[in-house]
Amino acid sequence: MNRIKTILLALAVLLSVQAFAQDAGYPANYARAPRFKALLFYSDTAEEAHVQFAHQAIDFFTRLTYGDGYILDTTTTLEGYDYERLSGYNVMIVINAAPEGQAQRAAFEQYMENGGGWLGFHAAAYNDASTNWPWLNKFLGCGKFYCNNWPPQCVLLDVEKKDDPVMRNIPASFVAPESEWYQWNPSPRQNPDVDILASISSLNYPLGIKDVISHGDFPVAWRNRNYRMVYLNYGHGDREFTDATQNLLTLQAFRYVVSLDPKGNPFEK
Ligand code: ZN
Repeated sequence: MNRIKTILLALAVLLSVQAFAQDAGYPANYARAPRFKALLFYSDTAEEAHVQFAHQAIDFFTRLTYGDGYILDTTTTLEGYDYERLSGYNVMIVINAAPEGQAQRAAFEQYMENGGGWLGFHAAAYNDASTNWPWLNKFLGCGKFYCNNWPPQCVLLDVEKKDDPVMRNIPASFVAPESEWYQWNPSPRQNPDVDILASISSLNYPLGIKDVISHGDFPVAWRNRNYRMVYLNYGHGDREFTDATQNLLTLQAFRYVVSLDPKGNPFEK
């Protein structure tokens, strides 16, 4: 009898602890199921350094799924991803890849125009005279690709919005791992709908050994407030995930885009 009493008492304690855990004042919010779905879209036919980054990014974002916090699907093509299918994802992580052909572009545009999420790296924003996709420039809030340094190298980055959720806890200036960095013309800074989050310090000039950039505005992380998106210019080679500060920036940009889901902030589920 005593044993049954003890078991009942233990059960009662367990239930009350659980009830307490569900109180709004409890500091942690434990998910009972994956909170959202992400689609990581990358190219495995791009230049080697772009594929290296993609594979390391898959590892980085897979680690973030541990404990089933969210579901990560990966794909090397958007063939078959119509608007309805894309809509099942809270966010697209786009790595050195872009939709191909009219149907894929149209589905992607519809997804972004209707509250879709995008975290884009490096060549995901590449466009030039041959791309023929004006919508991409409207989406990015900048002009076409203008120039790059070569070879890839470390640079000093300046944080421009230190209180922003994407940039919090990031030092005012930090040295980012080696990358190929792009300049745009016109710069996204000239777009009033764009928030520049970080840029390459002018202290880096001249930047490069073979291809040398001597001046110019050099934003490398920004968002266009007309869309649920953040663009990060790094994403070249196998050293990008060697720095805790830049990893924190990647994580915070991801979390920020996900949290603005028009269907509700998944982290509050
Ligand atoms: Zn590159």
